Amino acid sequence: MSNFWCEIDLNAIEHNINIIKKLIGDKKLIGVIKGDAYGLGINTISKYLEDKVDILAVGNIEESRQIDVKTDILLLSPLCTIEDFKDDRENLIFSIDNEEIIKELPQNTKKRVHIYVDTGMNRMGIKINRLDSVIQELKSNHPNIEIEGLYTHLHKCKDVRYTVSQVGRFKKVAEKYKGEIPFIHCLASSGILDNDIRKAADFTTAARGGNIIYGYAGYNRGIKKTFTYYAVPVNVCKVAKGEQVGYGGLFTAKSDMTVGVLACGNVHGMGITRETKNNPIYDMFKILYRSIKKRYVIFNGGRPVEILGKPNMNVTLINMTGLDKYAKLKIDLSPVISESSVEKVYIE
Ligand SMILES: *Cc1c(COP(=O)(O)O)cnc(C)c1O
Repeated sequence: MSNFWCEIDLNAIEHNINIIKKLIGDKKLIGVIKGDAYGLGINTISKYLEDKVDILAVGNIEESRQIDVKTDILLLSPLCTIEDFKDDRENLIFSIDNEEIIKELPQNTKKRVHIYVDTGMNRMGIKINRLDSVIQELKSNHPNIEIEGLYTHLHKCKDVRYTVSQVGRFKKVAEKYKGEIPFIHCLASSGILDNDIRKAADFTTAARGGNIIYGYAGYNRGIKKTFTYYAVPVNVCKVAKGEQVGYGGLFTAKSDMTVGVLACGNVHGMGITRETKNNPIYDMFKILYRSIKKRYVIFNGGRPVEILGKPNMNVTLINMTGLDKYAKLKIDLSPVISESSVEKVYIE
């Protein structure tokens, strides 16, 4: 039996998708599965999403090779290289996010592409005022390249006014291609969730969802968290009053007690939020603040469980006094950070 695992509720994912579809209306849905499907396991999640979204989007070509789906796969900007274009799979759609790559493409390349437009993030992308010429150039010099999409990324959605005007910049160059180019998209999770931004993007024909599918965002819209980590102790031992526990003897038993050993630790994201700034005063306050305001991450039922000392690489010691030896403890961790080898149990 496993002693540390992540339960993933596929019904909750379907529930979230239904909410997204209500929000985006008749726009197509592009399901983003980069980063091992945000830590939930790219293989199972891609299979599960295959018939629920119109396109699956990955972060790089390797991810597209890890999955076995018939659905179209979009290789998102910014990690699409000229080397990637040699991949001949029919369901693969490439992003063109710079002009140099167009010059390197062989004349007769037969490819399906979405063009990525830079509307202010200044990371990658065809500049707005170059878009029309780039489309012209592709049409005249690369007749076998099928332009199936135009998109941009909204990088600052908390600033709604900025983003609405950013969407406006995109609209100005993209809207005229509606009808000719099927997928025109700019909304990702935060844009889908915001009424004003979503409204500004009325002219678009698709939206990309990542965080919102897996339940990392949108709780006020009824989006559900889809994952929960659990651990049962791999060992339970008695410790007498006055004895020390764990690495560095950081914890001393104030009375006779029971110590539990859990098979999760730093590699799963336990205790790694204590970033320091190498500024002595700032760091001192931070450490002081943390020791006063303990942030519990392990729970028995709804009750917090005390961590003894610091979590280690893959082991964490806890105060088991009063807890059942087989207690199934809930651990508050993020799959995005956690090591991907953690056993995943999918529940339908
Ligand atoms: C990651 C990514 C997304 C998904 O963003 P979420 O906020 O998780 O919905 C959409 N578009 C691009 C270009 C991305 O890189």
